[in-house]
Parts: sequence; structure tokens; C-alpha cells
Amino acid sequence: MTTQTNETYTKPLPEADPEDRPYWESLKRHAMEIQRCSECGEYTFLPKPLCPNCLADALVWTRVSGRGTVWGTTTQSHPPLPSFSAEDMPFNISLVELAEGVRVCTNVIGCPVEDVRIGMEVEVVYDDVTDDVTLARFRPVKDQ
Ligand SMILES: [Zn+2]
Repeated sequence: MTTQTNETYTKPLPEADPEDRPYWESLKRHAMEIQRCSECGEYTFLPKPLCPNCLADALVWTRVSGRGTVWGTTTQSHPPLPSFSAEDMPFNISLVELAEGVRVCTNVIGCPVEDVRIGMEVEVVYDDVTDDVTLARFRPVKDQ
């Protein structure tokens, strides 16, 4: 799923650095990639220069399923910054554990915030918030 680009997006945006740039570029292509170690097979996130499991210099950007479960969740009820409007509130903040075993901090969208539950199955939604930046949000899987 893709949401429409909003040219007036005013909320904080990520600033890619050399270590995490491939992640942001994969989101822009709507094909989420996470680093996987070609020595031990473990996935890792956030991006790192070496595998935190076996210390090999063998991390390879690998396409992932975009499916996962809510591992932790909370509701933001008050605007955290002036750029958030009343219409943005409340919103969800969750840690989603991908099927590949790593956790990403994100928002669960597509359902009322009070319906988000730990263990809920979710799938990635590529949110093209500007022409240059795509964020990975998640929505409930419909067939659960
Ligand atoms: Zn490794």
C-alpha cells in the first residue's frame, strides 16, 4: 500500500547517514531491506558496520517480508512538537518485531489507536511523506 505524497509535510524527517542510507533508499523503492549477516545468518537493526552477533564484517542489505507483530505499543495523546496538529492526535507509537526477528520503531495506522494490541499481526505500509523520504508504518493484517 502507498499513501499519497504530501508536499506540506512538516513533521521531523530522518537524515540519512552513510550507515543507514540503504535502509531509507529501500523504503523509497517500497522494498524494505534490513542488514543480514552472511556469516551467521542473523538480521540486525538499527544499521551497524559489523554483525553484533558474530562480529563479522559481512552485513548484507536483504529484502524482508514487511510482516511482523506488535511487540510493544503506546498512544501519544498530546502533540509532541508544534508541527503536530490536533488532527494528528492521538497517534500510535509501536515497536514491531519483523518476521525476521528485528524490532523497528514505527506507527501502527489503519485502525483506531485503542485497537492496537501486543501480538497483533501487521504489515508494512510505505508512506511517501515527501518526494525524497518514505517512512515505514504498519497496518493490521486483514486476514488474521
Ligand atoms: Zn554474524
